[in-house]
Amino acid sequence: MHLSKRITGLNAGGSDGWDVFYRARAMREAGQPVIELTIGEHDIPTAPQILDAMHAAAQAGHTGYAAVPGIHPLRAAIAARVEARTGVPTGPENVLVTPGGQAGLFAAHAATCDAGDTALFIDPYYATYPGTLRAVGAIAKPVAAQPEQGFQPQADDIAAAAKGARSLLINTPNNPTGVVYARATLQGIADTCRDHDLWLISDEVYDTQVWEGAHLSPRALPGMAERTLVIGSMSKSHAMTGSRIGWIVGPEDAIEHLVNLSTHTTYGVPGYIQDAALFALNQGTALEERIAAPFRRRRAIAQAVLAQTSAVTPVPCAGAMYIMLDIRATGLSGEEFANRLLDAERIAVMPGESFGQAAAGHLRVAMTVKDATFEAALRRLVGFAEAIAP
Ligand code: PMP
Repeated sequence: MHLSKRITGLNAGGSDGWDVFYRARAMREAGQPVIELTIGEHDIPTAPQILDAMHAAAQAGHTGYAAVPGIHPLRAAIAARVEARTGVPTGPENVLVTPGGQAGLFAAHAATCDAGDTALFIDPYYATYPGTLRAVGAIAKPVAAQPEQGFQPQADDIAAAAKGARSLLINTPNNPTGVVYARATLQGIADTCRDHDLWLISDEVYDTQVWEGAHLSPRALPGMAERTLVIGSMSKSHAMTGSRIGWIVGPEDAIEHLVNLSTHTTYGVPGYIQDAALFALNQGTALEERIAAPFRRRRAIAQAVLAQTSAVTPVPCAGAMYIMLDIRATGLSGEEFANRLLDAERIAVMPGESFGQAAAGHLRVAMTVKDATFEAALRRLVGFAEAIAP
């Protein structure tokens, strides 16, 4: 039977970039001891008190259809959180609760792009981005952020790609690079969006994982609140990846239409999950800091290990749960390095190429295993690189 180009073309005919990950999983299932530094999943489960709140809500009967836009107290709590952190007036009417940030990314592009419109995104990118934009029928167009520019996107490059585009998707703190966009970078992005009448879709799911400086939401820049859709999520901030809960914050009229889209797609998020999310947000920043602390520690471990070698060069990492390593000195591509490392050392990392051409010759290392395991794995990775570097 015929299947739509929309779904058969999601990966643009190529691989989905997860080959090393699948191979590592298969090796593990075959009983081999593989250390996985691949996906962005915490090494801790959701906190017991959040699970208790979820259980209590379900027991109390919150198992039926929940309000499609999100239950009012949760929308209000998200709005208050965003307003407190950005200074931008934000109310419940500016918030749509979504089943995770990924559903938010899809809905935000459905809301801003018609079929055939161009949607810009920054390369290196989170692996789902191009497919997500294609899933709404948009033409996904990358704008490279170069390693030589510290992976900070340049306004001129965006402007050069902006003709005829509807939207620009950015992500800070960034997956895969760990880079946090500088104020000047975000100002350049905001100017370009205003000059070219672009929607800015700002993926801020790592906003609680900032190791240096502070997170700046571009929605707070002058004239941006009316053209920005912010994607948020409880996945990373509260170790709730499997609960599938996130949000879109944006102008009220856009949110109204997005609620309508939710009615015709997801029909909302389970009530007991929303209650648990509300409980988690009400714990304030202490809980978020506790969840972020292991990554802050492991970043320091990585800095100490990597300072002792020139075979791999870390990209200065200011946020998120990853470090990116420049391995071009070894003469291998990221894919070759990652595959050889998996075979030789039983350590799985993601090739930079999985996240776009701008990250070629790099590796993304997720800091998602216990400190001692992480340090030992990194030392073996460095030893492996030193043995092959010319
Ligand atoms: N954006 C980025 C940059 C991510 O890394 C992820 C998850 N890895 C997501 C969005 C989606 O997260 P979720 O759907 O779990 O909220």
